[in-house]
Amino acid sequence: MISVQNVTKSFSQGHEQSQVLKGVDLDIKQGEFVAVMGPSGSGKSTLLQLLGGLDIPDEGTIEIGEERIEKMKEKERTIFRRRNVGFVFQNYQLLQNLNVEENIAFPIHADGTLKPSDQKRINGLIKAVGLSGLEKKRVNLLSGGQQQRVAMARALVNNPGVLLADEPTGNLDRAKAEEILALMVSFHRNDNQTIVMVTHDIFAAGFADRIVLFKDGKVERIISRKDDDYAEYLANFMA
Ligand code: ADP
Ligand code: MG
Repeated sequence: MISVQNVTKSFSQGHEQSQVLKGVDLDIKQGEFVAVMGPSGSGKSTLLQLLGGLDIPDEGTIEIGEERIEKMKEKERTIFRRRNVGFVFQNYQLLQNLNVEENIAFPIHADGTLKPSDQKRINGLIKAVGLSGLEKKRVNLLSGGQQQRVAMARALVNNPGVLLADEPTGNLDRAKAEEILALMVSFHRNDNQTIVMVTHDIFAAGFADRIVLFKDGKVERIISRKDDDYAEYLANFMA
């Protein structure tokens, strides 16, 4: 479903070029829930941006489904992204002066007009994320946990095959984090999206089928609960 091969990415900082991704290889199956963990600054968000077609690699290939997204023209990639990829950003990135319903509908508006079937899906998502009654509330009046629910619903509005989430529980307390994870898991069980979730939280990562351990711009190891040294290795890696 997602295939990353030998991907590199550099950013210029002043006169210096610094290579953030140093040859990433990664294969994720259709319907798999993968967590990405690693030290801050190791390139996790950069990788997610590339998977979502928000940016392109310097070298290497990124395949989503059958499509080579790094080869697409920018406009083609934007259309592909809107149809196939849902993105939950690190700090929600909602449109603060719009209400809950308008935020969730936004990706549809960006693509055309709202059909009755779209409105039905939006209503269903609002209910599913537990925001019934708050449809017309401006999002800047919501709590962090509520804003993250809006972000989740917006990411899923086009029923994407792929959901990318960057630290979706990062700004939430334990109880709110568990609620958001439970939501992700229930959407995943129902619709079988392929999920890639960047997280610092071992508890959150425990929901994933596999955990990609990322270090210094490369995949250090991919670990799963079935591995004998799972708990020990993970604890050491994150220490
Ligand atoms: P992580 O999510 O693992 O914390 P990031 O992918 O956000 O790491 O960042 C990795 C490195 O790349 C950091 O040093 C960051 O400053 C740099 N970086 C990320 N995006 C950009 C950008 N658009 N321009 C310049 N530097 C960037
Ligand atoms: Mg990050």
